[in-house]
Amino acid sequence: MSKLYYMPTKVIMGNGCIAANSGLLADMGKKALIVTGRHSAKANGSLVDVIAVLNANKQEYVIFDSVMANPTIECAYAGAAFARENSADFVIAIGGGSPMDAAKAMALLARQDIREEDLFSGVYSGDVLPMAFVPTTAGTGSEVTQYSILTNHKAETKTSIASPVIFPKLAFLDARYMEGLSYTTTINTAIDALSHSVEGMLSNRASTISDSLAMESIRLIASCFESLKNRSLTREQRESLLYASTLAGMVIANTGTTAVHAMGYSLTYYKDIDHGRANGLLLAAFLGFVEKSLPDRVRTILSGMKLSAVKEFSSVLEDLLGEKESISMDEKIK
Ligand code: NAP
Ligand code: FE
Repeated sequence: MSKLYYMPTKVIMGNGCIAANSGLLADMGKKALIVTGRHSAKANGSLVDVIAVLNANKQEYVIFDSVMANPTIECAYAGAAFARENSADFVIAIGGGSPMDAAKAMALLARQDIREEDLFSGVYSGDVLPMAFVPTTAGTGSEVTQYSILTNHKAETKTSIASPVIFPKLAFLDARYMEGLSYTTTINTAIDALSHSVEGMLSNRASTISDSLAMESIRLIASCFESLKNRSLTREQRESLLYASTLAGMVIANTGTTAVHAMGYSLTYYKDIDHGRANGLLLAAFLGFVEKSLPDRVRTILSGMKLSAVKEFSSVLEDLLGEKESISMDEKIK
């Protein structure tokens, strides 16, 4: 069977990489729609850095700064309308997976009239505002994926727009923006990235290229387990986690996610459990389940973490996640 690997996003890494590569933003367009969450981009220095480059390039911008966690379909339409009203011709997303995913849908909807019932059809033209992304959590890898995952109240879950037309053109990885990220979010997002790579290793669509990226990201994230647990990450470890999460994004851009993410969306929707944490609650049990049919594959994944049994992995996750939420039998049946 032939395998495909595709990655159209240009990735630039390093401290100060936005300012050092200002010409790349200059080529994006005349007026940016900057998409952020409510607070963090203003507090961690990323928004100021982006605006400084836009001003130096004499590019205009407007800011849509009300993306909530697990962004809704309504938020995507509101951002797209704002982009149209202001004649924005490119998009810059700054933040975690929520602003990045919302920005992809806005870039699509700003150029194409798509009814809500057709939003997840997968049928779109290639006419989408070009996008540059600045991730400020190390987890989702959304800066290098073709997925925009939106809270869908009608379906009572989270639903993905998945199309190559919404790959960002540029991703700027600067770990300095993560220095003030809480350990709760740091741990949840690191587990999200780990889950992407583990699920990618177990996907039918895995290839030798996606396996190489997945194993490198698993190794890097596992090298931070102890510091995550002790809440003592160094600057270099934050850089490793950011790099690892982008690698894991490249993995799922090619393999997709599997049962862990599919089940995790319900935990987020019904129980308001953070996305990465929801995956973490399910990941060890999933690995144990798959071990029966794919023992070699699971052994390879565990060896990347310097572990020899799923049980050991389970206790690492327990240490990182703390006390688990409980779900009643009634809720499970629902
Ligand atoms: P998030 O919802 O984007 O952000 C979580 C929290 O962290 C927010 O309160 C945010 O504040 C704050 N924050 C972000 N960066 C910060 C920083 N540098 N310093 C301090 N606080 C910061 O969480 P996420 O886990 O990154 O993203 C989750 C979303 O991504 C979910 O909707 C999930 O479905 C999606 N996802 C997408 C993909 C994909 O391939 N597209 C893959 C996995 C997950 P502000 O709100 O103020 O910014
Ligand atoms: Fe995820």
